[in-house]
Amino acid sequence: MSESPRSVTILGGGLAGLSAAQKFCAAGWPVTILESEPEAGGLASSFEQEGYTYDHGPHRLYSNLEELNDHFKDVLDGNWHYRDRLSRIYMKKKFFDYPLKATNVLKSLPPWLLFRSFFDYGVVRMRNLVSPIPDDNFENWIIKRFGRTLYELFFGTYTRKAWGIPCTQISSDWAAQRISLLNLWDTVKKTLFKPKNVPRTYVSKFLYPKDGGIGSLGKGYVRMIEAGGGKVIAGAPVVRVESEGDRVTGIIYEKDGEEHRQTSDIYISTIPLTLFVPMFGERVPAEVTDAVDGLVHKGIVCVYLKLDREQLTPDHWIYIPEEHIAVHRISEFTNFSKTTAPEGKTLVCAEITSTKGDKYWTMDDADLVKLAGENLVTLGLLNADDVEPGGWVRRIDYAYPIYDLTYRENLGTIQKYLKGFANMESTGRQGLFRYGNMDHSIAMGHAVARRTLTKQGIDHSAIAAADEYFG
Ligand SMILES: Cc1cc2nc3c(=O)[nH]c(=O)nc-3n(C[C@H](O)[C@H](O)[C@H](O)COP(=O)(O)OP(=O)(O)OC[C@H]3O[C@@H](n4cnc5c(N)ncnc54)[C@H](O)[C@@H]3O)c2cc1C
Repeated sequence: MSESPRSVTILGGGLAGLSAAQKFCAAGWPVTILESEPEAGGLASSFEQEGYTYDHGPHRLYSNLEELNDHFKDVLDGNWHYRDRLSRIYMKKKFFDYPLKATNVLKSLPPWLLFRSFFDYGVVRMRNLVSPIPDDNFENWIIKRFGRTLYELFFGTYTRKAWGIPCTQISSDWAAQRISLLNLWDTVKKTLFKPKNVPRTYVSKFLYPKDGGIGSLGKGYVRMIEAGGGKVIAGAPVVRVESEGDRVTGIIYEKDGEEHRQTSDIYISTIPLTLFVPMFGERVPAEVTDAVDGLVHKGIVCVYLKLDREQLTPDHWIYIPEEHIAVHRISEFTNFSKTTAPEGKTLVCAEITSTKGDKYWTMDDADLVKLAGENLVTLGLLNADDVEPGGWVRRIDYAYPIYDLTYRENLGTIQKYLKGFANMESTGRQGLFRYGNMDHSIAMGHAVARRTLTKQGIDHSAIAAADEYFG
C-alpha cells in the first residue's frame, strides 16, 4: 500500500539520488534534485572532449541481482552491451591476472619467490592454528589468508599506494569487501575448479553503455525523472539546511549567483556527510562535529592521455603497485566501448591517489599529463612517441571513504545524530560513507524510496555493509 503523495527534495544527483528520484516519480510523488555540478551523474559521470568520451576511471556495471541488471538495461534504453572483463596487475614488467589465478602466478613468479610464498603461507596457517591472528586491520587480514610474501607483492604495496596510509591503519572491513573471502588455497582451487557460486571478483561479464560512456546511465535516469514530472536542478550547490526540532524545514542552495530556498515534506541527502552535517549550523553537538572531522576521504587525480594508436592493451584496467611510480591504475575506455575515441586513437586514464591540496592535487595539468606519460614509459607500458599533445585532468575530492580504524565509531556518532530528524535520510556512497559500487548506490536509492513510499522493503543502510565481497 502506497502512502499518499508527499513532496521530496533530494540533495545530490549521483546514482543514489537519481535512482531514488526515479522511484518517487514512478509513484507520482513530486521530486526535486539539487546537484552542485553542471550535470547530474556524480562519480559515474562521463565527459566529452575533442571526439573522446571518458569516465572517472574504469566503471564496470554489474549486480549480483538479476532484477537490478534488468533495471540498468531499462534505464539505458537499449544502449548497452556486455563486456568480458580483463583486468590485470602489471609488476616487474610482467602481467598477472586479477583476480589472481594460480596458474598465472605459478608461471610468472621466479621459483624462489614462489617457494617463499607457499612456505610463508604454510607457516602462517600453522601459526594461526596455535595462536589465531586477529582480523583487526587490513595487513593482518591479508597475511592470515595469503602469507606475508604475497601480501607484500600484490596487496600491501598497492593498497599503501592507493590509500596513502599504512595498511595497519586500514580497517579489515575494507579487505573483506574488496579482496573477497579468499585465501591462497581458495585461489588455487578456483583456478582448477569452477566455483559453484561465483563471487563478484570472478564475474567476468559486465554491462557498459554502447555509446556515451558510463554517464549514459545517469542521463537515462534524468530522462525518466523529467518524463515523470520530476525536476533536476543542476549547477545548484546546497549550502545550508534549515531545521526545527526533529524536522528539516528547508534547503538553501545557490543558483546563478543567488540563494534560493527549497521546501518539501521529505528530504534525502546523498552528498558527503562531511559537507552535509556542518550545513545544520550551530545546533550540531560538539561530539558530532568531532566525529565528522574524524572521517577521512581519499581523492583521485585522473590524468587522461591521448594516444596515437588504436589500443594500448586489451585490458579494461591495470593495477600498478610499483611504489616508485605515482600512477596506481590505468584504464582504457575504447575497451569498454569503441565509440569513446576517434577512429585509430585511444585514451588512457591514469589515476593518481591524492588528497585535496597535496602535491598532485596542486600540480599543473600539463605537468600531471607529462608525469603520467613518463610513468607509463618508465614501466615499459608506453612509447613516448605514442602520446599526443594535450590531454586533460579531473580532480575528484570525495573519491573514496577511508575505512581507518576509527571510522566505524565516528560514523556511528553521526548516524545516531541524523536519525533524530524524522523527515530526512542520508544515503548513497557519500551519505552512508560506504565504499560501494554503482549497483549499491542504486539499490540504496531504491530502498530509501521504497521504504518511504510503502513502509516496506530492506533498510537502505544495510546495503553493502556485510563482510561480503563486492570489489
Ligand atoms: C575511480 C572510481 C572508479 C569506480 N569504478 C567503479 C566500477 O568499476 N564499478 C562500480 O559499480 N562502481 C565504481 N565506482 C563507484 C561508483 O562510481 C559510485 O559508487 C557511485 O557512482 C556513487 O553514487 P552516489 O550517488 O552514491 O555518490 P556520488 O556519485 O558521489 O553522488 C553524490 C552527488 O552529490 C553531489 N554533491 C556534492 N556536494 C553537493 C552539494 N553541496 N550540493 C548539491 N550536490 C552536491 C555530487 O556532485 C554528486 O553528484 C568507482 C568510483 C571511482 C571513484
